[in-house]
This record gives sequence, structure tokens and C-alpha cells, in this order.
Amino acid sequence: MARGAEAWRYSGERAVLATMHGKERVMAPILAPLGLEVMTVPGIETDRHGSFTRSVERQGTALAAARAKIADAFGLAPTLRVGLASEGSFGPHPAMPLLPFAQELVLLIDRERGLSIAGHDIGSDTNYAQALCSEVSTALAFARRIGFPAHGVVAMASESGRPAPQRALFTDLSTEAALANAVRWLLMRAPAAFVESDMRADRNPTRMAAIARATADLVRNWWSRCPVCGRPGFVVGERVPGLPCAACGQPTRRVRAERLQCVGCGHADLRPVADPAADPAGCDVCNP
Ligand SMILES: [Zn+2]
Ligand SMILES: [Zn+2]
Repeated sequence: MARGAEAWRYSGERAVLATMHGKERVMAPILAPLGLEVMTVPGIETDRHGSFTRSVERQGTALAAARAKIADAFGLAPTLRVGLASEGSFGPHPAMPLLPFAQELVLLIDRERGLSIAGHDIGSDTNYAQALCSEVSTALAFARRIGFPAHGVVAMASESGRPAPQRALFTDLSTEAALANAVRWLLMRAPAAFVESDMRADRNPTRMAAIARATADLVRNWWSRCPVCGRPGFVVGERVPGLPCAACGQPTRRVRAERLQCVGCGHADLRPVADPAADPAGCDVCNP
């Protein structure tokens, strides 16, 4: 007999969010319907797990970084059982390298009930970009293009056309005059300055919106319950290939079903995809 949603819902439970960039502004209202009250802790140093101003390179996956941030937050809030973190990844689009690509992950861990629920937002709606500038005017034009000053930019030294933040790094430029001064200073020391969009959430409203969407996805996943034990987070964990070819009937690499599994009771559901058969164009047997 499935337990109701109310058995898992929180009632004013305080959840610690590992952020030093104001993410609680967008995340707290979205998480409130779960009965969670989102709080932050002073003294958290999330940038040591990787920062967007290139001062610390992230080691490992986004999920590992989010887990590490939550572990730090629990260290500073030892009486709380629910922790939250978000982690963004930015780079070129895997299929269309000229397009930027942003992935936002939001993670909730309930260390008492053993819950670990993620939400995602993936797409090209980002102002992630960079430019190598040999003139102040180029840097200002770039900054306007990415939405400065509503969106932040960071300026740093360059070395053979590559960013060299260890040499010089300006991260809190809020006006065109400040940006122009920083770039002028950099150009007195090298032929070019490296300028890029600031991806810290509090300096990047576009990213803040992506964090909100990922948080909403987390809430959707939280409400997706195991039909047997009612545990939250009953979501697709695996896509099973083998959709039969429409011409020869042999299994193809196309997905034939999605597998959902409950980590609480082990119950699994195999949900077939809507397509009955795969296009023979993608069949390795009859169309090699
Ligand atoms: Zn279950
Ligand atoms: Zn075939």
C-alpha cells in the first residue's frame, strides 16, 4: 500500500543551501511547497570546489562538486538534515560547437532519510562567452553584447591568447568606466586582455533563471513517487536501447524503453517509448 505524499513532505524543516552567490533568492520560493525553509550559512566557501572566475578549476563531475558543497554546508550546520547545492557547467555545445551550452544541476540531500534528488536545466540559453581584446573599445562592445552591466564580466591577463588569471584578475567590475580602466591596465602589460561573462549566479540573471528552472525540475522529481513505497524521486535512471527496426525487426541503438527504479524498495518500472519501431535509416543490420 503506497504511502501518501504527506508522509514525506516536510513541515517547516530548515534546509541549508551551500551558496555564497545569493541563489536562495530564486530557490527558496520554489522549494517552499515541499515544506522546506531554505537558509544559508555564513562562512561557506563554495568557490574552493571550482569557481567561474577561473581562479579555481573544478575537479570531477558537477554531481561530485554539488555533493562536496552540501557536505561543507552540513559541517557548518550540523543539526540540519536537508542540504542543497547547485552547480553549473558551461562550454561549447557538444553537437554544434559554435553555440554555447549550459548545464545546471540542483541537488537536494536528506541525510536522515537517505534521499538524493537532482533537478536539471540544459540548453543554449546562456550568455557564456569570452573575447580576447587588444583594444578597450572591443572589450566594451563585448560586454554590452553579453548584457553588461546587468550581467557581470570579468577581465584578466592573457598569455599567448589564453586566459592567465593567475597573473591578474578583475572580478568586481560594475560600470563601463571600471571595465575600461581594468582593460587599459591589462593592455599596458600585454598585447591583449581576456574578457568573459561572469557566471557567478548573483552577477548573471540568465544563469539565475536557469537555476530556478533546475530547482523546479527538482521539485517535479520530488513529487514523482514510487508506486509501491511512495518514496520521492522515482525518475528515469536508465534508457534501454533496442527499438526494433521498422524494416527488418532487428534491435537498433534507438531507445525502446525508460527504466525507473526506486532506491528505497527496489521497485522498477519499464516504460516503453511511444514509437513502435525505429527508422531503418539508423539500422545497422539492413542499412549498414
Ligand atoms: Zn519504493
Ligand atoms: Zn533493419
